[in-house]
Amino acid sequence: MTPTTSDLHPTLRPMYETVLRRNPGESEFHQAAHEVFESLSPVVAKRPEYVQASIIERICEPERQIIFRVPWVDDAGKVQINRGFRVEFNSALGPYKGGLRFHPSVLLGTVKFLGFEQIFKNALTGLPIGGGKGGSDFDPKGRSDGEVMRFCQSFMTELYRHLGEYTDVPAGDIGVGGREIGYLFGQYKRITNRYEAGVLTGKGLSWGGSQVRTEATGYGLVYFVDEMLRAQQTSFEGKKVVISGSGNVAIYAAEKVAQLAGTVVAMSDSGGYVVDENGMDLEVMKDLKEIRRGRISEYAEGREARYLEGGTIWDVPCDIALPCATQNELDETHAATLVKNGVRIVAEGANMPTTQAGTRALREAGVQFAPGKAANAGGVATSALEMQQNASRDSWSFETTDARLRDIMQGIYGSCMMTAEEYGMPGDVIAGANIAGFTQVADAMLSQGVI
Ligand code: GLU
Repeated sequence: MTPTTSDLHPTLRPMYETVLRRNPGESEFHQAAHEVFESLSPVVAKRPEYVQASIIERICEPERQIIFRVPWVDDAGKVQINRGFRVEFNSALGPYKGGLRFHPSVLLGTVKFLGFEQIFKNALTGLPIGGGKGGSDFDPKGRSDGEVMRFCQSFMTELYRHLGEYTDVPAGDIGVGGREIGYLFGQYKRITNRYEAGVLTGKGLSWGGSQVRTEATGYGLVYFVDEMLRAQQTSFEGKKVVISGSGNVAIYAAEKVAQLAGTVVAMSDSGGYVVDENGMDLEVMKDLKEIRRGRISEYAEGREARYLEGGTIWDVPCDIALPCATQNELDETHAATLVKNGVRIVAEGANMPTTQAGTRALREAGVQFAPGKAANAGGVATSALEMQQNASRDSWSFETTDARLRDIMQGIYGSCMMTAEEYGMPGDVIAGANIAGFTQVADAMLSQGVI
């Protein structure tokens, strides 16, 4: 649902209306923009130079948008056609950086919302990376390795001309993991005749990848929540945690929760969810999802766990909820159930998994809320660490990289809290994240002139 202009600062209203007019039908992008605009009222009042230089209007307009045909041949010999996208949104702080999503639901508006979020998320890491995102409506589910490879090769055959370690550096997202990054990198290398390791992140450990990149988004999310808990003189110990999803973010968030003595009682996939009061067995989950690429229903077979088909995982009582599946998976009805069941913290591992009404309901009930652009920034931050290692032809240990990740997440939490305080909204992580990310990019844009 597209949010309205009425609750925005009068200076911001016409800017948001322009976003609506220029991007018709792209409700997820409207929502992502509205969420940032809602936080910008105190910025508009305090920093008139941004308004003078039309910084907000410029940030809402991608620097470049690429749409292309991706033809490939399936195992039956039939030619398939998909659509490829890359939205190069903002390069004020560094090369465009952000993942590729392969999922049948991907449209230009999806990529735009993800790219827009990425600008501010990447700024919050404090590392030199701009914002971009890409993907395709290709559905890897049920496709053979050969089909996935041929698709990736065709996708890169068009996209390579727009990439480069100083230009645009993609990585994974939903539907794009180590296997896909391998095929994409192989094709880039073949076409360009360059071993340009820093052009993609999420690479294999033996060929330029970074330790901790696989775990980083999930681990980082839990480090962020750990900071929130610490501020309240408490910890994960003995806390019940519900994590939606069972992909890369969810699995490693669960692993870190368990290491910090919390109990992950439920996880899900698009078919349903499992409840395991003893705590999810993550070795079984990893084998099921990372190796066998199976359904979560199989987890419950032969063990003391319940599988519920359909329904909603947010019915499961918990202290901490970590939505790690996809956008708009937690709405106001789910929020009401979570509140009724006593949830204390909701932190977003996915990008924009909570609807605006859902977020409002949680905040009104006094639940602490951490938005994805702050809480899930550990993934892209570790991608930037991978780029650093590639640039210096170095490779760091797991411990060194993990310590850097933890530092970065603590830094993001600190800068959200400090910025929220500075702009008169103490304790508001959403306002802190939006304003801290925005001002960082806006200041760089001011310095770089009208471009
Ligand atoms: N797709 C991830 C995100 O949403 C990671 C992007 C990256 O590593 O470039 O932040």
